[in-house]
Amino acid sequence: MVAASFVETTALLRKTQALMLAASALLLAPLSSYAQWRTPWSYEGDKGPAHWGALDPDYAVCNSGTAQSPVAITAARKADLPPLRFAYKPGPLAIINNGYTAVRLDYPPGNDNFLVVGGKQYELTQFHFHRPSEEAIHGKTYDMVLHLMHQGSDGKVVGVAVMLKKGRANPTIDRLWKYMPQSAGKTHLIPGVSIDPQSLVPASTGYYTYEGSVTAPPCTEGVTWYVMKTPMEVSADEIAAFAKLYPHDVRPVQPLNGRVVEESR
Ligand code: ZN
Repeated sequence: MVAASFVETTALLRKTQALMLAASALLLAPLSSYAQWRTPWSYEGDKGPAHWGALDPDYAVCNSGTAQSPVAITAARKADLPPLRFAYKPGPLAIINNGYTAVRLDYPPGNDNFLVVGGKQYELTQFHFHRPSEEAIHGKTYDMVLHLMHQGSDGKVVGVAVMLKKGRANPTIDRLWKYMPQSAGKTHLIPGVSIDPQSLVPASTGYYTYEGSVTAPPCTEGVTWYVMKTPMEVSADEIAAFAKLYPHDVRPVQPLNGRVVEESR
């Protein structure tokens, strides 16, 4: 009896250890593979957006592509489009200043935060900020933009852009900014602090949508973008704190080349 229970306990311990190892590998995965580009690029100068396509063969589509992002939304065709549903939940804070944005949060596969649209769900892979907004809507750019990136189980990439305009402070942004790494480097895991992405998206989910790309090298196309019509507010102090580190981390708008932007009713 004693021996049996010892064996059982040992087996249980081994199982627990294996589970813990698997869990820590899952946690470590995004930390060790954080935003690293083989070839450096920048938002200005001789490694700037006009030259991205020539910096690395992997970036060629940045200049040769015909469905690039961001875009200026000037005319949109109203259409019966499926509603967006954000099924996000609070989770641990792992934050990186990756040299291109002051704040990016990476989410490992299986994190269970989903964008649900048209009967499909796309899991959150990361979110990050730009200043000012990369997108222009009816000639207007906003103080900042939040990009939430998602991926379907078939690999389909879907981006959500939330415009941020100067107004009241956002408590979640406040919390993120409190831990905003002041210089580029590795991911910081902040114990005991949880972040709920749900608090960063507007309750009103009207949107513009078009087919585009990721807005930084390698500029991969095949990305469906949902640009939310309703902006969220951030305070002047929050904008200034980001701008101190990244005053202009923005790719210029790209030609539509015949693409049609649709607008939810
Ligand atoms: Zn972005």
